[in-house]
Amino acid sequence: MPKQFIDQYGRILNYLRLSVTDRCNFRCYYCMPEEGIDFVDRKQLLSYEELQFLLEIFTEYGVNKLRITGGEPFVRRGLVEFLGRISQLDGLSEMAITTNGSLSFSQIDALADMGIRSINISLDSLDKKRFFEITRRDKFDEVFSAILYMIDRGFEVKLNAVIADNKNTQDILPFVELTKHHCVSVRFLEEMPFNGTGTFEVPTWNHVVIKKHVLSHYPTMRRLPDEANSTSVNYQIPGYKGTFGIIASYSRTFCGTCNRLRLSATGELRTCLYGAPALNLRDLLRSGANRDEVIQELQRAVCKKEKDGFEAESIVAQTPKKSMSFLGG
Ligand code: SF4
Repeated sequence: MPKQFIDQYGRILNYLRLSVTDRCNFRCYYCMPEEGIDFVDRKQLLSYEELQFLLEIFTEYGVNKLRITGGEPFVRRGLVEFLGRISQLDGLSEMAITTNGSLSFSQIDALADMGIRSINISLDSLDKKRFFEITRRDKFDEVFSAILYMIDRGFEVKLNAVIADNKNTQDILPFVELTKHHCVSVRFLEEMPFNGTGTFEVPTWNHVVIKKHVLSHYPTMRRLPDEANSTSVNYQIPGYKGTFGIIASYSRTFCGTCNRLRLSATGELRTCLYGAPALNLRDLLRSGANRDEVIQELQRAVCKKEKDGFEAESIVAQTPKKSMSFLGG
């Protein structure tokens, strides 16, 4: 067997999205209710030692891109030290982070020192009041100054904005204008059904509507070449420093080239964001499984990856969907 994770459709799965915690200091409406979710007990989380053991296997089997997510990853104690250790893993060519931006400047410096270059920040509005209404936290100034500091420090900064009717559609054009003077990639995402409430309305502002809206104001916008395995369709306004993209996260137009695996902080391995856990690696480890047994179970699980997000969702249609804070995005 080649030391790679290949699914039944021949897709090579070399990108792991690792959630290190389900906890978050924000309460974004599209992710969890204001009162939060039933956060898991810390003993239920994979320890940093268990994570390191698993990451050594993932990287040995061809995972070369690792994204650290949460909840909010920086609420977990000892994260920066852990990142320092795993950034040395053989075979890892890229380590990136997704955060809500409420991290300190010293943490940013530490990330730069360990060679992390790519950071995604969830920012759904450039208006302080709307930011508060969406996140239920009055943290706009901290987040925005952290973003400007990261751009200054030369990070590849991507801003993820979940667009929704009656929430922040009036932010789309200001975000595009932000790319005029800042070397930043803004991505507009469709809302997804992982809000921890069990209720969801199909988004009206989908990738087609968002593109039409921007195009009507920027007829000269030009499409950029697609990056391999990318979920974002990217554009640039001539003369602008930055770029923007649209991610059809609910319409799921990009599953054919999906190379993603997801590991939750409690060890649930998902081969698709919309699907059920294929395996629980924490339970496997804590049941005494050795390295070879873990690898065998992993290969068995990834091989059965669903064709696309619709197939994955249909299999678990009756099961209430977890919050994005648990799934890790
Ligand atoms: S919906 Fe599932 S199959 Fe499609 S891109 Fe996302 S994770 Fe991959």
